[in-house]
Amino acid sequence: MGRILILDDDPLVLQSVDRVLKKQGYLTQVARNAQEAIEKAAQEPFDLVISDIRMPGKNGVEAVREMRKLFDEKVKKDIPIVFITGYAEMSDQLKAEQLGEVILKPFDVARLIMTVREYL
Ligand SMILES: [Mg+2]
Repeated sequence: MGRILILDDDPLVLQSVDRVLKKQGYLTQVARNAQEAIEKAAQEPFDLVISDIRMPGKNGVEAVREMRKLFDEKVKKDIPIVFITGYAEMSDQLKAEQLGEVILKPFDVARLIMTVREYL
């Protein structure tokens, strides 16, 4: 299955990642903030989450931790996480690396697709 949730506060990134992945045949949903992403994660399981790190309010690391908890309760498995980030505090980046893979912005579309294919 290829259900992907994309979380980013930057609408341009959200839109471009969404478009690229839809073109590859994945079923995508987008969220502009942590709360929206967590709500979507509570409604349906995803096979992969792509998340920004720096966002106003809850950051991507915190959002992913909450989503992981939800997925764990619902589907009893770890969902792969790919972070896409520009600048992030080193401490946040290290936390992100413990949860999943980190791709730095500006990112290469081919690299993103390759990374997603590794998991799905
Ligand atoms: Mg951001």
